[in-house]
This record gives sequence, structure tokens and C-alpha cells, in this order.
Amino acid sequence: MTVSHHITDDLLYLYAAGELDFGWSLAIATHLAMCPQCRHRNAMFEDVLAASLEDEEIAEVHTSVDDILGMVQGLPSLENTPDVEVIEKPVFPKPLRDVAGDLKDIKWSAMGGGIKQKIIHEQDGVISRLLYIPANKAASSHGHNGLELTQVVVGGFYDGDQAFNCGDMQIVGHESPHQPLAMSDGPCICLAVTDAPLQFQNLLPKLFQRAFRI
Ligand SMILES: [Zn+2]
Repeated sequence: MTVSHHITDDLLYLYAAGELDFGWSLAIATHLAMCPQCRHRNAMFEDVLAASLEDEEIAEVHTSVDDILGMVQGLPSLENTPDVEVIEKPVFPKPLRDVAGDLKDIKWSAMGGGIKQKIIHEQDGVISRLLYIPANKAASSHGHNGLELTQVVVGGFYDGDQAFNCGDMQIVGHESPHQPLAMSDGPCICLAVTDAPLQFQNLLPKLFQRAFRI
């Protein structure tokens, strides 16, 4: 598995700092389980944050390393995640599996055209859902008022001239409408996390402000 679409530095920093809501953290933890490169970057951010705790002033913001690392609220530790995730059995990466169960456990809701979804977590307007798109089928064209993180866990999809393969994360802001098309060699299953349309305008600036206060 070659991952070519990664988590941005700003999102990864916010994740390491414990500033993200559960849904975003779930998408990022799922990506980290599939991507050694981002795991390495995440470890560097954690090192920087842990070192900064030695500064008393900064320690007032983050009271302990455990607080930072514990922000994923029940998401599993990545310490023991192997460099290469075996996706055949079980199918889903462990962080996702811990929240949603494995593929065989999912009770899908049909959305027409063979496309299915399952909402697996919802909190404060941040919705985490699994999407199943049959081979060669396109999801509905949709725009965004907020942020959408789409982590590919099975198969792959095309969006415009870009290909997103298993392990890749697509990050879409409030941009022009787009229409994911599942690749032809099998169904595509993604973890898609979105926030409420009107919430986004203030969400990221608020997060950045909190994160970069240090
Ligand atoms: Zn990555």
C-alpha cells in the first residue's frame, strides 16, 4: 500500500495537541494506522509538544503528556500499530474498528445506486460516517460549507484528475462541488468526517488560535 495523500501539518499538529473533536481525531488515527510517513511526523509533533511541557508557562496550557495523548477519548494507542497494516483480515484499521466494528459488522443504509452509508459517530455537529461506493459508481456531486476528511479504507476513488487509493486521505474545504468515482477494480469504502455547514466558519480559526496560543 502506497499512501500519497497525507494529513496536513496543521491538522496533524492539532491532533497531537489534543485540539480536535472526536470525529476528526478518528479520521486521523485511522490514517496514521495506515501511513508510516504520517506516524513519523506525528511522533515528531508529540516530541515537540512533550518537550515544550518542560516550560512552566506552557505547562499551564497542557498539564501533562497524558492529557495530550489521552485526548482521543478511547481511541487506541498507536504505539503497537505495525508499519504495514494487514487489511484483509480484519478489513478496517484498528482505530476505526474500535469505534465501528469491522466491515462484516456494519449495518448499512442504502442511499440509491448501490451506494450505502453508516453513521458511526456524531458529536457537536461533527459526523463520522462510512461510505460504500460500488465499483465504477459515482457518489452524488456535493459541495461543502465545512470541512470534509475522507479516509480510504478499502479500494479507491477518483475525484477530478486525482486518484485516492487505499490509505489516502482527501481533505476538502468549502470548495467547488466534487464527485468521487469509485475505481473499477472493486468497491470503495471510506470513512468520511464532516462538520455542520455553519459551524466551519469559526471552527478552524478557533482551533488554530487555541493551538498556537503556545
Ligand atoms: Zn500519511
